[in-house]
Amino acid sequence: MCLDVDDTLLDGQRASRQGLRELVGTDRAWPVWERTTDDYYARFVNDELDFDTMCVQRTKAFFAAFGERIDDIEAARRENIRMAAMQRAWSLFDDARPCLDWMRDSGLRLAVITNAPSVYQRKKIAAVGLADAFDVLVISGEVGVAKPDPQIFEAACEALGLRPGEVAHVGDRLDTDALGAARAGLHGIWLNRDHRAPATTEVPTIASLHELPELLVGDLPAVPVPELIP
Ligand SMILES: [Mg+2]
Repeated sequence: MCLDVDDTLLDGQRASRQGLRELVGTDRAWPVWERTTDDYYARFVNDELDFDTMCVQRTKAFFAAFGERIDDIEAARRENIRMAAMQRAWSLFDDARPCLDWMRDSGLRLAVITNAPSVYQRKKIAAVGLADAFDVLVISGEVGVAKPDPQIFEAACEALGLRPGEVAHVGDRLDTDALGAARAGLHGIWLNRDHRAPATTEVPTIASLHELPELLVGDLPAVPVPELIP
């Protein structure tokens, strides 16, 4: 079983909103921060910017959206304040630990597949008490490919010693996680928390990790074995 980290196990949005509140005193600008993050994080994932540069440039762009021009030094200073506040707020969703415990007790081998820099993500996983929760950590910053590239899913299967058709991956991003995994021959499962996004019939969908055991034990549809795909 493979799992995404941010907004799947760890409530990244809550922590990120807290960081924004400590930076500007309110999270009313959250939609602007979220849009700016989507834009700049994609540039990091695509190797156009390293992580630290991405963080500083994102903060510059965020303030520029409100007409305030700041230089790199000031942007780095503000980003440090936000980052520290966000890291203090890192925490798991309530359904994460029971689900992980159930999977572990069921004898499933567990892997993380996450798009993030190595040191940062390992620090985050340890900070929320999951340092020993997984057999395998597949971090884009370490393997050199990012979701939804099939190679990162294949790397996780190989590390688990399983064929893609024997492995499921669950994550909060429909395309990056669920469809990416399905395209690589795994069972892709979309975690659409609280049905926040429109439904899809492309992949099995759950609204909470509490629903995952039933899906895994129940009728997870068969996926084509990759070798049999023409
Ligand atoms: Mg995620």
